[in-house]
Order: sequence, then C-alpha cells, then structure tokens
Amino acid sequence: MTTQELVATGQQLPVMEAFYTIQGEGRFTGHPAYFIRLGGCDVGCVWCDVKESWEAAKWPVISIDEIVEGALAYPGRLVVITGGEPLIYNLFPLTQLLKEKGFSTHIETSGAHPFSGEFDWVCFSPKKFKKPHPSIYQVANELKVVIYHASDFEFAEEHAAQVNPTCELRLQPEWSKADRFTSEIIEYIKKRPAWKISLQTHKFMDIP
Ligand code: SF4
Repeated sequence: MTTQELVATGQQLPVMEAFYTIQGEGRFTGHPAYFIRLGGCDVGCVWCDVKESWEAAKWPVISIDEIVEGALAYPGRLVVITGGEPLIYNLFPLTQLLKEKGFSTHIETSGAHPFSGEFDWVCFSPKKFKKPHPSIYQVANELKVVIYHASDFEFAEEHAAQVNPTCELRLQPEWSKADRFTSEIIEYIKKRPAWKISLQTHKFMDIP
C-alpha cells in the first residue's frame, strides 16, 4: 500500500508532535496525559495557537505501532489525541491499539469531520469557521466553547441545545482575551449553572 492509502485506512498518521504533560483544560484538568498532535486542519480559526499544524504534508507519517510505542514509554495511561483536527483521519485503528495496550483514550476535536474511533472521553470544541458534522453531537462527553468574542455565548448555547443530555458544558476564555472575558464568563455561569468554566491552566504553569 502507498503511504496515502495507509493514512486513508488509519494505519499511519501524520504526527506533528507527541509529548507527556499535564492536561491543562476541561474535565481532566490536572491529569498526566500523553498528547498526540496530528498534523492537518481545515477549520481555520483566526486565533489558532497551532497554525503550524494546518498543513498535514509538513509532518512525518508514522505507523500506529510506533505512535503507541511512544506513549508506552511513560507511566501515565491516558492519551489525548488532538490536532490540528484529528477527525480528518480514521481513528479506529489507533484508538483500538491504544485500548488494547491499556490506555484511556480522549479526543479534542472541533467535530468538523465524521466521528471515528473508540474513545473514553470526547471533548467537542465547535468552531465558527467550519460547521461541525452531525455525528459529533451524540458522542460528545464535554462541550467546550472558547469565548473570543461576545457573540460566542450565543454560539455556545446553540451547540448546548444540540448535544446529548449527559454532555458536560464548559466555557473557556481564549487566552489572549482572558482579561476581557473571564469575569463575564463567571457572571454568565453564576446565572446559568449548567455551565462550568474551563481555564487553560497549562498556560499558567508554562507547560505544553
Ligand atoms: S480547529 Fe484547532 S487546530 Fe484547527 S484552526 Fe481551529 S484551533 Fe487551530
């Protein structure tokens, strides 16, 4: 099979970086986790802090065995697959292998592509720049909306109305706008307790 075919089947994937750190945001804040950042994203958020991930061709294509081997080198057994936009790829082979090796599998996604993979935790972070695929709403465990603009509160509610009833709801100030929006988010949540706040604690700790 060609590399292109192996990527299409999910047996090989472009990996921008992989590193062991602490999950800084959302429900699993504070948990040690191995992050696998896949290259490639077609969402185009203006405030994206990993724009270098957008072009998949820039990153080495690695077999899923090698990716999992990298994760096994560390004692933590929580893996977060992120991007880029990881759902560009078929994530069944990678997540099945990770689970076989005893990992909990989490994903951070904008939901812009059809859902794939076996995940223990799905963090859905929709973006205004590309409409989510309908398959994400039933499987999302956590809706995390980044607040960058005042209109993002309404955007958050539009998505909260579509996710499944067990999905946890979080609002997160975009890092560069945190001074502007954190107090507004606090007041918003005090009035609407279905929501919780998520902060990018890894940025305060200055870790990746
Ligand atoms: S979806 Fe994520 S990686 Fe893609 S542009 Fe938006 S913030 Fe960046």
